[in-house]
Amino acid sequence: MKTSDDFSRRLLIWHQRHGRHDLPWARTRDPYRVWLSEIMLQQTQVATVIPYYQRFLARFPGLPELAAAPVAEVMALWSGLGYYARARNLHACAGVVMRDHAGSFPQDATAIAKLPGIGRSTANAIAVFCFGAVASILDGNVKRVLCRHFGLPGIPGQPSVDRELWRLADSVLPRRAVGTYIQAQMDLGATLCTRTKPRCGECPLAGSCVALSQDRVLQLPESKSRKPLPSREVRVLLLIEAGRVLLQHRPPSGIWGGLLSLPELPEDAEPSAYAASALGCAVNRFETLAPLRHNFTHFRLTLLPLLGQATFLPHVAESAGQCWLARSELAAAALPAPIRSLLEAAFPELGRG
Ligand code: SF4
Repeated sequence: MKTSDDFSRRLLIWHQRHGRHDLPWARTRDPYRVWLSEIMLQQTQVATVIPYYQRFLARFPGLPELAAAPVAEVMALWSGLGYYARARNLHACAGVVMRDHAGSFPQDATAIAKLPGIGRSTANAIAVFCFGAVASILDGNVKRVLCRHFGLPGIPGQPSVDRELWRLADSVLPRRAVGTYIQAQMDLGATLCTRTKPRCGECPLAGSCVALSQDRVLQLPESKSRKPLPSREVRVLLLIEAGRVLLQHRPPSGIWGGLLSLPELPEDAEPSAYAASALGCAVNRFETLAPLRHNFTHFRLTLLPLLGQATFLPHVAESAGQCWLARSELAAAALPAPIRSLLEAAFPELGRG
């Protein structure tokens, strides 16, 4: 038996008994649902994704509903899932499929990969799961399994390493049961061949795994040497007026792009003067609340909230993108998770406003 057949055969047998068969998207061939789950699962754990996936489907049961919704509503439903470019691209992609493809996903992986926010691996997954294509995928879990099993040095993400990973993935791709095989690869990476504490003793690939035989499991895949992340401190204003809180729309791209957030105080600005000149509010006194720390992939952010009771200054116009939301409106607002936590922690004070 060829190595490739043996590799896939062992994975398929293992998957029958130990795969994750009960995931909400496990049995569907609907491209909309497969696409939605694949995008949500990028950079995010299954347990976090499931409630978001279900809420999305309840609100947007299909592409037409998603494409017709305001992007702000899509961002609000995505709020807390992180990596918000995914949500913006999701909305853009729905629009393109409705406009250019008569509301149906193209069936060919190359055409799917031209849609906004869809890379080669996601396009292949959609083509395999929904349209019976024979193609490899290369998500983070699959990369880890392949790097370890074949003892591949180098850092995934680097073009030469990814080229070799695609070659290896194709070399072990079976001709039949491709969808189940791909799901098996993902399940193995997520449940046994995990980044820390892999359970090699239960792994169907253990007999041929180079990393295991060379005692290099935890050294593979190689990762960039971790330099300490730079940190940034930002003062944010939590202004309350008649029980409502002031929020601002963030620019469409960049950190928290398109979401609502608290106004940020420029570095040297005096809070009361800034509130008056830039936000149209008089605030006599500010109270310093507990800082909140949040790690992004490339820096650490510390939010330093200043709470103040505001009154409007009628002669100063509100700046564009500014809105006052009542407590009851915050649950449905498109807020980044750290800002939501900060507001929740501050709400006893908000309630007194
Ligand atoms: S034997 Fe261990 S390292 Fe190798 S593929 Fe299996 S779980 Fe991963």
